[in-house]
Amino acid sequence: MKRWTNSRGLTVLVAVCGLAISFLAAAQAHDHTRGGSRIAFNGSRAYQYAQDIVDCGPRWIGSPGHVCAENFLKKQFAKDNLEEDTFTANTPAGAMTMHNFIVKFPGKKPGIIVLASHYETNYPLRDIHYVGANDGASTSGLLIEMASVLRGRLLDGDSVWLVFFDGEEAIQQWSSADSLYGSRHLAAKWDRDGTLKRIQAFLLVDMIGDKDLDIARDQNSTPWLLDLVDQAAKQEGDSSYFFATTNAIEDDHLPFVQRGVPCADLIDYDYGPHSFMLPDGYHHTAQDTMDKISAHSLTVVGQTVLETIHLLNQK
Ligand SMILES: [Zn+2]
Repeated sequence: MKRWTNSRGLTVLVAVCGLAISFLAAAQAHDHTRGGSRIAFNGSRAYQYAQDIVDCGPRWIGSPGHVCAENFLKKQFAKDNLEEDTFTANTPAGAMTMHNFIVKFPGKKPGIIVLASHYETNYPLRDIHYVGANDGASTSGLLIEMASVLRGRLLDGDSVWLVFFDGEEAIQQWSSADSLYGSRHLAAKWDRDGTLKRIQAFLLVDMIGDKDLDIARDQNSTPWLLDLVDQAAKQEGDSSYFFATTNAIEDDHLPFVQRGVPCADLIDYDYGPHSFMLPDGYHHTAQDTMDKISAHSLTVVGQTVLETIHLLNQK
C-alpha cells in the first residue's frame, strides 16, 4: 500500500507495486514509429510471465507462493548471474528474512540505469487469496521480459540493472517504518559502497498492467526525468497514457530520492471502478486478477521505458 496525495491536497491510501526498464542499442537506426527498426517490447510475453507469477498464488513473505515466485525468478535468470540480496527486517510481526534480486546487464558507459519493481504481495491480505496481478506480478513480468532485450551483448550506453524488491508492502499498516523494506535496505547498502553515485536514473514501475492505463505524474519523482519519460511517450505515440493527472506517491523510489538519485515512479493507482464496496477499486482486493490487466498496457510502458533509456544515453 502506498499513500498518495492528489493535486487537491486530499490524502488517501492506495496500493502500489511493480516496475521495469530496458535499454535500446544506440547503434541501431532510430525510428520513432513503433514497428520500425526499433527493438520492440513484447507485452504479450510480459503478460505471460505475470501469469506465471500469479499462478504461484499469494506471495506474502513466508508463504509457499513467495518461495515459488523467487524460484521462478531464479529460473528465468539462471544464465544471467542473478544476485540475491538477503537481509533481516524488523517488522511489526517480528524479524523477517527478505530477499531482493538484482541482475546486471553491463554497458560501455560507466553509469547505471536501474529499472525496479517489487514481487511480493501484501501481508495483511494473506487470508483473502490476494494474488496481486497488477500489484507486483505485472511489473515483475515486465522486468523479466525486459531482460530479453538487454541480454547477450555489451550495451552501447550505461549498464542497466533490473531490481526485484521484496518487502515493498506494509506488514501491518503503511508508515515510513512499516513499508519499503527492500528498497530502504538496498539504498542504504548502495550508499555505503558508492554504487549510488553511478546511478544516472532510477526508474520504478508499479501497477502499470491496468487495462485502463493512466499513469499520473508523481510529484515525489525528479521533474527532469519525468519530462524525459513524457518525451519518450510522445515519441512512441503513447502520450495519452501518461501524466494527465498529478499526485504524490510513496513507493520504492523514496529511499533513492532521499539520497539524491534522479527517480521516476511510473504508477497507475487509479485501478478499476471505485464504489462504496471498493473505494480503491481493485487495488488490494481479491479482484486484482489477470483479467484486469493487458499485454497492451505492458507494451506501452515497456516501449516507453526503452525509449527513456535511449534518451538517457543521448544526454
Ligand atoms: Zn500494493
